[in-house]
Amino acid sequence: MKKAMQQDIKRDINKEVKKKAKRLPLLAVAIFAAVLAAGCGSADSGSADSGGSAGGSGQTVRVTATLPFIGDMAREVGGERVEVSSIVQPGDEVHTFQPSPSDAQGISDSEVVFENGHGLEQWLDDLVQSAGGEERTVVELSEGLEPVEGGSHGEHSSEASQNSREEGTHAGEGEHAEGEHAEEGGHTGEEHAGEAEESGGHADEHGAVNPHFWLSVPNAEHYVEGIRDALIEADPDGEQAYRQNAEDYLAELEDLDSYISEQVQSIPEQNRKLVTFHDGFPYFAEEYGFELTGVVLQNPNAEASSREVAELTRTVQEENVPAIFTEPQFNSGLSDTIAQEANVEVHPLYATFVQESDIVERDISSYEQMMRANVDSMVEGLG
Ligand SMILES: [Zn+2]
Repeated sequence: MKKAMQQDIKRDINKEVKKKAKRLPLLAVAIFAAVLAAGCGSADSGSADSGGSAGGSGQTVRVTATLPFIGDMAREVGGERVEVSSIVQPGDEVHTFQPSPSDAQGISDSEVVFENGHGLEQWLDDLVQSAGGEERTVVELSEGLEPVEGGSHGEHSSEASQNSREEGTHAGEGEHAEGEHAEEGGHTGEEHAGEAEESGGHADEHGAVNPHFWLSVPNAEHYVEGIRDALIEADPDGEQAYRQNAEDYLAELEDLDSYISEQVQSIPEQNRKLVTFHDGFPYFAEEYGFELTGVVLQNPNAEASSREVAELTRTVQEENVPAIFTEPQFNSGLSDTIAQEANVEVHPLYATFVQESDIVERDISSYEQMMRANVDSMVEGLG
């Protein structure tokens, strides 16, 4: 757990000052109203604690989740005591997501912010700062989990990303092997120096540490425990409710974990190979016994080269992979090309929530639903 409290950037201080100035009249009105109310009632206690602090009498705790599945978990654990909003919406592509000013407002209205962490939400620090960061708790839910090192996309397709990771030779990225990705969101290196150190940065997008911990259910349980503990801290009156909700939800996740393991058993062992659209499934593969055979898009911020596509097509054929997987939140026409050339099926996988559309059969709007859909899809394609 970390409190975001670096406010050393002049630009953001100016923003804050502006915001505070704007808010002042509202606060004045609130105090005025409180004084009025006190005036006509018992004259003794006019204490204006209208600040809306967590756990105040019957008030809900306002929570911001960076990603939709985190929002789902927070609702499960928080129940009626919390009001949760999510910054990234279903269908948004997480890696290339750009927040809007209203997202800062959402954070400034919240007492607790939950993020995945490990470099996935590069934009969050700036948002929290422009929302007056020191007033709220930011919880990195993947903190403390054992990372899978490296890109993890099998021997065949990982050459390109290995190189760029080790030597910083990625197209247009060569100059900043260390403070990598600092410029992507339009911020300067200094702003993110601390974060890069802490999280291992986001080299080659998924860099040294792949951030997709949540796609393994035992890891997701760790997220849920983190949410529970943070909510208890923010709202001690709700401790019992949070503990009970978390216990119930964790039991459901245990069932989910068993379901996935059982389903995987129905896939012939030699077919337990994943060719995914982006490098989102190493924790899933590790937990449930899949080989990561290839990744179509090595870096979500770049396009795949035709050489990479040709190589992956060859790998799919050589490895007798029966199906490859696409992800609806990406523009993943490349998967279709590869599947056609290698003469294999294409099935969807979900690393985030999506809404029903031309290419998506149904909404994916809960963590459990997402994980079930994933393993069902694997069984359909590989079983
Ligand atoms: Zn990803």
